Amino acid sequence: MTETAGDEFQPFWDAAAAGELRFPFCRSCQKFHWYPMIRCPHCNTADISWRAIDPTGSLYSWTVVQRPFDAAFNDRTPYVVGLLEFPDAPGVRLITNLVDIETDAIEFGMAAAPAFDLYDTAESRLMFRPNVKPARSLE
Ligand SMILES: [Zn+2]
Repeated sequence: MTETAGDEFQPFWDAAAAGELRFPFCRSCQKFHWYPMIRCPHCNTADISWRAIDPTGSLYSWTVVQRPFDAAFNDRTPYVVGLLEFPDAPGVRLITNLVDIETDAIEFGMAAAPAFDLYDTAESRLMFRPNVKPARSLE
């Protein structure tokens, strides 16, 4: 993502490198938005700060990629792309990769937290790790 990410994302990556999850927050209307914009999409003021939140998200939706568009990702398949919501940042939905989970264990609404331990500053890629529930016993 380094080639395409603009400077407007830099506070997000800086926060990730520091083990925090931050999103743009409008001090005027008190709402979050995503992705980063110079002016608030809700009230059009430029009074925006980056607010740290509780980084645990909730899985809104996901897909399992079996055949990537880019051959560079062939050795990573299957991989999971998830859309996360954050109770601490209403209105934000973040597209990310989910790691360390079996694809058939994924459920709507499951909690996921940033895998800060896997964050790679060179690649600017923050992945999330679901908090897997214990397997249900069949006995
Ligand atoms: Zn606003």
